[in-house]
Amino acid sequence: MAYRRIDGLGELRGKRALVRVDLNVPLKEGAVADDFRILAILPTLERLRSAGARVVLCSHLGRPKGQPNPEFSLAPVAARLSELCGAPVAFCPETVGEKAEAAAEALAEGEILLLENLRFQPGEKSNDPEFAAALAKLGDVFVNDAFGVCHRAAASVVAIASLLPAACGELIAAEVDALTPLREGTAPRPFVVVLGGAKLGTKIPVLKALLPRTDAICVGGGMAYTLLKAMGKPIGNSRCEDDLLEVAGEILEKSRLHMRESGQELVLPRDHVVAKGLDADLADYDVVDDVPEGVMALDVGPGSVAEFIRVLRTAKTVFWNGPLGVFETAPFHLGTEYVASYLAGRQGDCHTIVGGGDSAAATRQLGFSERMSWVSTGGGASLLFVQGEDLPGLSALPAAS
Ligand code: ADP
Ligand code: MG
Repeated sequence: MAYRRIDGLGELRGKRALVRVDLNVPLKEGAVADDFRILAILPTLERLRSAGARVVLCSHLGRPKGQPNPEFSLAPVAARLSELCGAPVAFCPETVGEKAEAAAEALAEGEILLLENLRFQPGEKSNDPEFAAALAKLGDVFVNDAFGVCHRAAASVVAIASLLPAACGELIAAEVDALTPLREGTAPRPFVVVLGGAKLGTKIPVLKALLPRTDAICVGGGMAYTLLKAMGKPIGNSRCEDDLLEVAGEILEKSRLHMRESGQELVLPRDHVVAKGLDADLADYDVVDDVPEGVMALDVGPGSVAEFIRVLRTAKTVFWNGPLGVFETAPFHLGTEYVASYLAGRQGDCHTIVGGGDSAAATRQLGFSERMSWVSTGGGASLLFVQGEDLPGLSALPAAS
């Protein structure tokens, strides 16, 4: 499915473009601590400004629960955005209403205004038509470039899209381009999925959806241990979701059948980096084939990394969601780092797409994001999209003509 792009909105010179962006960035001591969501919207800003539009940006930040809270003000983000796009960014301390309307009206062609946090208004999360109508007064056209919130029916994402001529921005267009082949099963084969992360529970839908259309799935991270336990392997104190053992057994059975029919592989960790716990003395860790009692697995071991890389060697497409270990704490980042570094080395020869909030953070933290084909800015949204779900924010946009 292709959505109407900015070009499809006609002449934009002098028009106010109300743009929903995802500037939900981490703040530290009142300043932006990570720029990646700001950098991701620059192509859309550039396009609108060079078309002569007057740009009115709106975003959420954090969870202020429908009322103003200075802790979640977007003011520091306006300052950083201005530095990164090399142009002044006016900030309006209100989201909608007379002040915001006057600020939008005051913009000249190519100028940028950022409105205060959408979630200071209760109508945002409830997709309230009245709040959407108040927002609609701030633009002549609407552009959605907030891929990361497209799975939520919020007023600035869904209701607004039927009130103004609407289009998707450059970021959403690029996300949809990168993720659609995974969703539709048209990615170049062999197609290998690397799954990790904390919980099996959150990954079951994507695992089930991708199982029939991949050549191999490598599983690491905390989610692997529920699967290993379902296979009867010892897992010590590793993370385990006991209520999912039955589902885990079914998934393993399904993959065994699929494997027999199609030669597909489901590769689980064969060795593990274990420690007493994250609070314990971290120098006291071990690499084991079987997780003994009293310790927990915090990363995949070197044998597992070698096995994953053996499977990845022939891949033409890789979708990676979920870190393979507790990457936030050394040395449990090493499994994730080795696999990321291998895939970075395959740049140009294998298409690697990273999705998931922590996966994207790990890729950036370890310095590999530039060498991945695409690092999705959508956490939950990218997983749901790849699983084949309809995202309300995308469904609200008109199709490309
Ligand atoms: P994403 O946001 O990319 O979808 P998740 O939220 O599912 O990823 O998982 C990320 C978290 O999983 C990280 O905080 C990481 O520390 C944790 N994790 C990875 N491996 C393990 C493990 N073996 N035990 C416990 N937690 C793990
Ligand atoms: Mg996460």
